Amino acid sequence: MASGMAAGPSQGRLAGHTAIVTGAASGIGRAIAIRFAAEGAFVLGCDLGREPRGGGPATDDVIRAGGGAGELVIADVSRWEDVAGLVARVADAHGRLDIMVNNAAIGEGGRLTETSEEVYDRVMAVNLKGVFLGCKAAALQMLGQEPREHAGQREVRGRIVNISSQHGMISSPGHLAYGVSKAGVVYMTRQIAADYARDGIVCNAVAPGKILTDMGGFVPTEAQLAYSRSRTPWPRLGLADDVASAVLFLASPEATYITGENLMVDGGWMAS
Ligand code: NAD
Repeated sequence: MASGMAAGPSQGRLAGHTAIVTGAASGIGRAIAIRFAAEGAFVLGCDLGREPRGGGPATDDVIRAGGGAGELVIADVSRWEDVAGLVARVADAHGRLDIMVNNAAIGEGGRLTETSEEVYDRVMAVNLKGVFLGCKAAALQMLGQEPREHAGQREVRGRIVNISSQHGMISSPGHLAYGVSKAGVVYMTRQIAADYARDGIVCNAVAPGKILTDMGGFVPTEAQLAYSRSRTPWPRLGLADDVASAVLFLASPEATYITGENLMVDGGWMAS
């Protein structure tokens, strides 16, 4: 076993758990991976490269510097071999996969008439097929493992958390393919939750509102930030850690009898 595959700390809300987080080099995925590791999970992150977009040490270096256990490897979520390889890597080293977080996404595209077939296909390949592949690879592993014990019950074989968006429920201005892909993620989450509840697989989504990351190298303009502020009742925009807290809850044994949910972390955007 490589040193990066060591078990996580024995204390924390995810002590003894194993997790995969896709798109973990930067932004929200990085925050989730670091948070999970701080709560005792072993975390295998994946991304297209190791460098965080905002600079600084790679995610697994941050995890290990904090006393946690994790690894960040290169994998493309739109490729079955890559995604299945991530699950096999965790299962081979730790015997089980407890948590799958499908976070990786891209934000390309325009309105309908400005969206080329090529861009549409690329967005769907990462944002929707990537989530399908992540859910499928995780579920295949989870079905073959015993449920974990929690509070005297043995109910949950594994937990999947998909990152959706408020866009997809309402229009994503100028981003048709992105919005369609996110609507698909919410539907897929519900379908998987219903189909696999009796197998002990929990599947939920977290829908961020406007979160201050430099998504896809895309730095929002002042006008775009002003639009987001005008839509967000809470007096600030979101941070990656706001999303990580919600994902942590749904990934933890504290989230009981909750499946098929799409939890908004949007400062009230969708409520207003
Ligand atoms: P980000 O671009 O900072 O992070 C996404 C990560 O995914 C990047 O590190 C990127 O390299 C990686 N990635 C892209 N394609 C990949 C692939 N094929 N395989 C593996 N990794 C790949 O974006 P973010 O803001 O952190 O967004 C994370 C998630 O949150 C996404 O699903 C996004 O749609 C969602 N979201 C973000 C916001 C926001 O305001 N930032 C709002 C709603 C939803």
